[in-house]
Amino acid sequence: MHKDKIWLSSPHMGGGEQKYIQEAFDSNWIAPAGNNINSFEQDLETYLGSDNVAVLNSGTAAIHLGLILLGVQSGDVVLCQSLTFSASASPILYQGATPIFIDSETETWNLCPIALEEAIINSITKGKKPKAIIAVHLYGVPYKIDAIRAVADKYSIPILEDSAEALGSSYMGKKCGTFGDIGIFSFNGSKIITTSGGGAIVTHSKKIKDRAIFLSTQARDAAPHYQHSEIGYNYRISNICAGIGRGQMEVLQDHIDLRRNMHAFYVDLFKDIEGVTVFSVPNTNYFSNYWLSTILVYPMETNGISRETLRLALEAANIESRPLWKPMHLQPVFCSYSYYGSTISETLFNNGLCLPSGSNLSDGDRDRIKSVIVNLFRR
Ligand SMILES: *Cc1c(COP(=O)(O)O)cnc(C)c1O
Repeated sequence: MHKDKIWLSSPHMGGGEQKYIQEAFDSNWIAPAGNNINSFEQDLETYLGSDNVAVLNSGTAAIHLGLILLGVQSGDVVLCQSLTFSASASPILYQGATPIFIDSETETWNLCPIALEEAIINSITKGKKPKAIIAVHLYGVPYKIDAIRAVADKYSIPILEDSAEALGSSYMGKKCGTFGDIGIFSFNGSKIITTSGGGAIVTHSKKIKDRAIFLSTQARDAAPHYQHSEIGYNYRISNICAGIGRGQMEVLQDHIDLRRNMHAFYVDLFKDIEGVTVFSVPNTNYFSNYWLSTILVYPMETNGISRETLRLALEAANIESRPLWKPMHLQPVFCSYSYYGSTISETLFNNGLCLPSGSNLSDGDRDRIKSVIVNLFRR
């Protein structure tokens, strides 16, 4: 282990962040209020072409508030993509609602519209029309926007668009995060831009944005004393973290280009290696930020090399890689809930691997990754 660790996806500062943090110190707004918060919101609104973004202290908080804003309550049913990070699903339980997990389709690895409709029809038959659909743009690749919207509209069920991994991705020129009835982003440490911890909620009206801010700041009524008529949350971002966000927005486009270069690097690296495919968008309507570059390894075609063989070979060279998200319906904490679909998400999990994808990887890092992969598959 003589060499520095190569991480899957590590924070990459642009240089402008500390200026905004200094502004917060100079004005003594070391608080969940202040100019950085408003400016970070404006930066995101300009970028997304959407007027109603509220920044929060995590993506998970944004999903929780999103469910609340969509009216999800105790006893309700919420449909959720199974192949995702647990934070897509946990807030359903925070609300005392019941998740139903849905399989993926093979083109985008996201919500399968057929399994989704089957789950909706079955729930309605049982007298429980689902209250919301949580759709995820996994690893930055947009879900089947038109097909999922068509199913949602057919049954009048709102979409909570989990765009945590997809800042900078788009579908037919429109930015991810703006397709859902509510959209969310995460700025956690591993995401394409980070505020060390943070998130955002994208709404479609000033009224809903204001309500998101009201609920995220303890739901305080207009009164000189502290008066509350509703339960609130402490979900607003700090003015310090929002300062990091402002600096990161200045380099977002660079980060997208650099992550897409990493994806192109892997496409080139694996083009002559039998039995390995690099996950890529299905057609030119889709634009992915390629937050993480991911591959599928088919041991039947690689002389028995599996994704685990590759993961261990990389680990031995001090290079981090990781299996895909383990589907929620296979998780100990969620496995008692209903699931619709077949074994697509499970098969993806069994064969898939996320490779180092950061915007801060060097030519030397790429050489080290390449030599491990070339040596392993040449055997
Ligand atoms: C990162 C992530 C979240 C959670 O965001 P946090 O900011 O870490 O709370 C939610 N959903 C998905 C798909 C994610 O990747």
